[in-house]
Amino acid sequence: MKEIILIKDGELALKGLNRSTFEDMLVKNIRWRIKPFGSFQFKKSQSTVTVTPLDENADLDAAADEISRVFGIAGYSRAAVAEKDIDKILALAPVYLKDQLEEAETFKVEAKRSDKKFPLTSPEISAMVGGKILESFPHLRVNVKNPDITVTVEIRDEAYIRGNQLKGAGGMPVGSSGRGLLLISGGIDSPVAGYMMAKRGIDLVGIHFASPPYTSLRSEQKVHDLLSKVARYSGRIWLHTVPFTEIQEMIREKCPEEYFTIIMRRFMMRISCMLAETTDCHALITGESVAQVASQTMLALGCTDAVANQPVFRPCIGMDKEEIIRISRKIETFDISIQPFEDCCTVFTPKHPKTKPHLPDVEAAESVLDIEGLCKRAFEGITRIAINSSGVENV
Ligand code: ATP
Ligand code: MG
Repeated sequence: MKEIILIKDGELALKGLNRSTFEDMLVKNIRWRIKPFGSFQFKKSQSTVTVTPLDENADLDAAADEISRVFGIAGYSRAAVAEKDIDKILALAPVYLKDQLEEAETFKVEAKRSDKKFPLTSPEISAMVGGKILESFPHLRVNVKNPDITVTVEIRDEAYIRGNQLKGAGGMPVGSSGRGLLLISGGIDSPVAGYMMAKRGIDLVGIHFASPPYTSLRSEQKVHDLLSKVARYSGRIWLHTVPFTEIQEMIREKCPEEYFTIIMRRFMMRISCMLAETTDCHALITGESVAQVASQTMLALGCTDAVANQPVFRPCIGMDKEEIIRISRKIETFDISIQPFEDCCTVFTPKHPKTKPHLPDVEAAESVLDIEGLCKRAFEGITRIAINSSGVENV
């Protein structure tokens, strides 16, 4: 039996004239993501992408699992392929959907005839397939309003038979909204922020600030592990690691303690903006949430943003920790995030940080530093690796 995967476009179906560009991008993303699982052919028509395995060894289970995490997909299902012959369809439907039909109590059949040359009408197909299923599974009842299983028969180039559609990851195809730079720490919030913006179609580039020897290689490994989980949804992420030790030491040496964190965050923003420019990113993405910590009060965020010449996206801004944690569990980053490895933020945490900093005071406090020189040296020390869902890539 030949089996395929049918994919229904998500929100991109709404995009009018741009639609085919979005669809092309979706197909490109799916193609790239299921490439490890075999060779497949892709066809799109009427907001459906048909994925057909081209060799016998193609792993359809793995491909379907991968597809469940590709953004831009409203729903997907596996389908059996039959010849466009009603007897073949009637023979295959009860066999292919046996497990699902045995479990269900109620069902209905929907037929869609895109090929108008097919000799039976949609209602005729539905009635015949329904009759055949009742005959094979006498325990079933028909329920057209709210059935446990909807058996769909589509007559296109070939006949496709499928059961219930599974829910897709939603959102927009990654890349369709451009590229953004994710400030990724080892915490709970920033991986969630990356996931949320990737869902809106943003292709993620990562930046991480490391302060060896105060922070260890193990905490960098943690960031790799987190991004690898995010990459299950977003696709490959280039991670840039910035040497941040000199900056943190200079801040500690020369600035008032109560401003340590806010000044450090302003350095992160400046360097991130520099990198955004060279990596074609048009927004920064952080995991900040109002009032979560001292550096995330409204005034502190204002002081942070004052040095950014890019929009700063903070998808967690209005979320409770509980809500953020729920997402982090879903995307499997939570257990990694709670591993106890130090982050550069925690290295020189002041005892009494200013919660209501005023911009002129912050500017005065940092004015003793050679801001430009420090940023330039940190920027020049950036190293870069590629991360995908199986870990660090060899490229
Ligand atoms: P998270 O759980 O994401 O670490 P947090 O609540 O602990 O967030 P902070 O540590 O104040 O908050 O960091 C706020 C945001 O700044 C993070 O969400 C992240 O986007 C960014 N950030 C913090 N530390 C780093 C770092 N070492 N490298 C890159 N970005 C960082
Ligand atoms: Mg943190």
